[in-house]
This record gives sequence, C-alpha cells and structure tokens, in this order.
Amino acid sequence: MICLTGDIHHHSLKLNEQRYIKDPDDSEVKISCRYLKLVEKYKLKATFYVTGKTLEEEWEDFKPIAASKIVEIGGHTYEGLPRTLFSQIWAKITGKPDISHSFSHGTYANQKKDIQKMIEIVKKRIGKDLVSWRSHGLVVDKNTYKILAEAGIKCISDDLNWHKLFPEKIPEGLISHSINVIMDHDHIYHAHRTKEYVENQKKYWTYTNDPTKESYPIEKWGDIVEKQVLEIERKNGIATVLMHPLCQYLSDRFKTAGRLFKIFSQYKTIWAKEVPF
Ligand SMILES: [Zn+2]
Ligand SMILES: [Zn+2]
Repeated sequence: MICLTGDIHHHSLKLNEQRYIKDPDDSEVKISCRYLKLVEKYKLKATFYVTGKTLEEEWEDFKPIAASKIVEIGGHTYEGLPRTLFSQIWAKITGKPDISHSFSHGTYANQKKDIQKMIEIVKKRIGKDLVSWRSHGLVVDKNTYKILAEAGIKCISDDLNWHKLFPEKIPEGLISHSINVIMDHDHIYHAHRTKEYVENQKKYWTYTNDPTKESYPIEKWGDIVEKQVLEIERKNGIATVLMHPLCQYLSDRFKTAGRLFKIFSQYKTIWAKEVPF
C-alpha cells in the first residue's frame, strides 16, 4: 500500500522556494490545485499536510483541494515555524544556507496554542476533526507528541527511516508511519537547491538520521522512488511517499510526478488516517 503525502504552505510564510514561482498571480496553493488534478487523473488518494494559515489566508484558492473526495487534510503547524528576521540577516552575513524555517516550536504553551489553532481552523473551514499531523520541517521536540495526543491527533509522519516498512505505536499512543521513501525536497536539485547550495548545506546538515545525504536531478530521484516503492510493495509494507506539489512543479512541471503516479495507480493508495496498525 502507498500513502502518498504532500505538504502545502501559506504564501505569506515566504519560503525560499516560493520565490521561484515566476508568475506573481500564481502561488503554492494554486500550484497544489493543479497537482491535485494529476493525482485525480490517476485515481490516487493523497494526504496533504497544510499549514493553518493557508486555510486562514488563502481559503478561496484552497477550496478545490478542500472539496476533493480523494484528499485527506492533515495538520502542518498553524504558523509554519517562521524564520526570525535575525536568522535571515545572519544567513546573509555569514554565508550560511538561508534556512527555510525555525528549528524550535518555542515553549510548551506556544506549541500547544499553535496546535489548537490548527485544529480549530480545520474544524471551521473543512468541518472535520483533525487526526493526521506532520510538523513543518519535521521539527518535533519533547512536548510535541504529548500535546498532539491530548488534542486528539491519531497519526504522525515525521520520521525519516527507510528501514521502517510498517507503522508503529509510539509511547504517547500515536501511530507513526515513517517517510520510508526518498523524499523530494532535500534530495532534488531544484529552485534554490543548486549543486553549490547543496555542497554548502552539507556542512551544516541537521538531519542526522537521513538515510542519504545525496541530491539528484529529478529524473534520477524518480527512479529511486520507483525502486523503493516496488520493494516495499513486494514486502507488503506501507510506502509513505513525500512529494511536495511546489517542489514537483519547480523541478520539472510535474513530469516525473505523472510518471510516478502512473506506477502508483497499479497499487492501493491510502490516507494517513487509514494507515493500518
Ligand atoms: Zn513544510
Ligand atoms: Zn523543494
């Protein structure tokens, strides 16, 4: 089974990558709507982890995704861990990679408030109880899962581990399904992630549990995804794939996504909330 996932962020977050959207009338949400059409063409299910501010600020544009029968909406933090102005200036002065998010949720109370706001906006806009969650930037701390469990979240997918083919229950009671297929953003040369940027980033790499530190042209990345998914299918595992609509668009205008979706369509796809345990 395949759990196809993607993360969507609000325009006002001003991620590094959003600067590469050429048309000023276009946006990450509008790109995600076009990506959804491709997912629908192949009759796949998809879980989109969306920041709360996307639903708050870009609701009109987001409506086609909210209305889609094949989509589950998951939480991706309300605020999206915005960078501080200081960190942006610091990156410029020191020449260190300009990070796309903060690495801290702040205090217990701050994080709890952010999670509650995310749950409330989903209830308000979509009319559903939020049950699936992935932290933006996969940033979690010792409080995250406790707060999520108490707030009614059931499934999380923050772990990068190519060897975990089956979901597991963590001590807080949540079901964790690892991203066990090479994820797109950190492994594809695209947007600001040029060869030079990646080499520089490696010096400051923070994903110590990342199975590989390599980046590839998207075609090669697509070949690796195909190989890994088929291998997990062969072992009857759950392949959790992370493909960001924006990364896929900026890399090759969904060409590789289309190729992969055709392969995925031969297998059963499930939402995060359906991950069996
Ligand atoms: Zn994110
Ligand atoms: Zn990207």
